[in-house]
Amino acid sequence: MRFTQPAYPTVYFSTLIWVRCPNCDKAARIETKLGKYIIPEPQQHQSTLTCAHCGLRNKHNENWHGQYRGHLNIACGFCGSPLIHTRKPTKNRVAQIAVRCEVCKKEKEYALHWYKYKQNSAIDPYFGLDLWLRISIKENVLWVYNVEHLKYLRDYVSSSLRDDNSRHKYAMIANLPKWVKSAKNRDLIVKKLGLLEMECKNLNG
Ligand SMILES: [Zn+2]
Ligand SMILES: [Zn+2]
Repeated sequence: MRFTQPAYPTVYFSTLIWVRCPNCDKAARIETKLGKYIIPEPQQHQSTLTCAHCGLRNKHNENWHGQYRGHLNIACGFCGSPLIHTRKPTKNRVAQIAVRCEVCKKEKEYALHWYKYKQNSAIDPYFGLDLWLRISIKENVLWVYNVEHLKYLRDYVSSSLRDDNSRHKYAMIANLPKWVKSAKNRDLIVKKLGLLEMECKNLNG
């Protein structure tokens, strides 16, 4: 079977995302109206988080639940040498940290810049919540935003002929890890996605 669908970026599927509700831990939905530009980062989108179980309703930017990465890139306050410092991803944004200059050996408190940390984890890009629809294959986790996304991924995984011509660097299929593309995992992934699709039928609200 040949995979013939367009090379959509993952964000194309992000108009509906099922996540774990930060209030009640049940399945909540994030609906997003995408703006004109969606890659590399969606611009001028509007997202709303709603939970039918507990009644939560949240507009985008009211709350980022995910981690942040702290970064510092300035000149030393004593000798002017460049100071570069990156913090591990964390939820705890301290305002200032003490950094010691390697050149003049003096220490001073500096203000950090904090960025939303979105890499390498199964969270949504708008509120930073854990994705609801996920399967684990051995020690790996495969996630999807919604049932349409699931079907697209399954089409890709189950096809034996994959046309590489239509790929671009933001295409979801170009960014899948090797273990997902590996023929030896194909049957297991397709089977688990089938079970997950049945779970999707119970999602509503
Ligand atoms: Zn809830
Ligand atoms: Zn210095």
